[in-house]
Amino acid sequence: MKILVIGSGGREHALVWKLAQSAHATQMWCAPGNAGIAHERLAKNSAPVECVNISAEDLPKLLAFAQEKKMDLVVVGPDNPLALGIVDLFLKHGLKIWGVNQKAAQFESSKVFSQKFMEKYGIPTAAAGTFSDVVAAKKFCATLGGKCVVKADGLALGKGVLICANQTEAEKAVDEIMVGKAFGAAGANVVIQEFLEGIEVSMHALCDGATAKIFPTSQDHKRALDNDEGLITGGMGTYSPTPFLNDTQLAEVANKVLEPFMRGCVAEGIDYRGLLYPGVMLTKNGPKILEFNARFGDPETQVYLTRLENDLVELLDASASGTLAKHELKWKHEASVCVIMASGGYPGNYSKGKIITGLDAANKLPGTKVFHAGTALKDGQIVTNGGRVLGVTALGKDLRTAQTAAYAAVECIQFEGAHFRRDIAAKALVV
Ligand code: AMP
Repeated sequence: MKILVIGSGGREHALVWKLAQSAHATQMWCAPGNAGIAHERLAKNSAPVECVNISAEDLPKLLAFAQEKKMDLVVVGPDNPLALGIVDLFLKHGLKIWGVNQKAAQFESSKVFSQKFMEKYGIPTAAAGTFSDVVAAKKFCATLGGKCVVKADGLALGKGVLICANQTEAEKAVDEIMVGKAFGAAGANVVIQEFLEGIEVSMHALCDGATAKIFPTSQDHKRALDNDEGLITGGMGTYSPTPFLNDTQLAEVANKVLEPFMRGCVAEGIDYRGLLYPGVMLTKNGPKILEFNARFGDPETQVYLTRLENDLVELLDASASGTLAKHELKWKHEASVCVIMASGGYPGNYSKGKIITGLDAANKLPGTKVFHAGTALKDGQIVTNGGRVLGVTALGKDLRTAQTAAYAAVECIQFEGAHFRRDIAAKALVV
């Protein structure tokens, strides 16, 4: 099969790496890809994966390229092209594409849509209100004692969420988003949720319009610094499985979330084929959904795909074709840990073009895979090209072994200003 992957981050490197292991893959491309993706080869015939310089948001060019190469399967990594309707466009032109359609992408592109859906179909979530009026929004914050989370409705690069401790902060947040337009048009409407205390975990489920297959648990580390301090980032590291949810509890969450989710989609005429990634807070009153994402998590993908035993081409094909019920997801018993190495300054300003060394030594360690995110090839050398640079991932017989292995690999790698958290998976080891 000829396969095109769209995107350029660590998630896409993990997708390419896993798809390239499939006996079905005979030729692969990635648009636009990164330096790590360009190094991958197919298991079947050792053919290199070719990176194509087309942006993930340039739908007409992507379509023309996929048509020219007669792609058998297109796999979409990031949320933006999904929200722009890439799946609808490619399907209209008779191409097979994996990812959610534009209507289903609303679960991520509109927090108001998601919140209303959760309330309508009885999916456990935070007490919340949705507003287009500043005065009404502030009044609602007051009913929560000001301890709330104000969220811009639309996509805001993961930044449109402001956590408030009191009414003054809440009013400031409402003003920033709705009046100051800190996140542009994304903030014309807001969702205001009660602040939930608890442990946050990530869930993933692969869906085919009728069936949802749940993944094991994982946990991300959103803050930039150790002990969950510093600014919120795209994610500084993940591990799987997490001890905070056992198999029985996971099945219970699936029951309370996935069952009404799929039922609601059918009722609303949403054909949900792709990945559903709910953010879950485990509160003392049970699990509550904070938000829905409509694609693989980054860096959750790195730990999931290193644990997945199935052929990913077959799974994504089944998800796109509506035949997922025939497949059983199989996972390695080993644990996986991914440590993100970021550019100094991230998530604030950072510089690019720093030479990265030690990648080969790190990749040679047993059970280790270094996924690239913000990297590029310049004058024959791999250099930094983004905020999150690498996802250093390792498998181990248990979490501690995987954690030790991931940090041993991190120690092999150098670039100027490199920053990483030293406590990925640490929380899970003191339980
Ligand atoms: P979201 O994009 O909605 O997942 O929000 C980003 C982050 O803000 C989440 O990963 C949580 O850490 C935090 N967050 C969001 N909603 C809440 C809430 N209702 N209570 C506490 N923390 C929240």
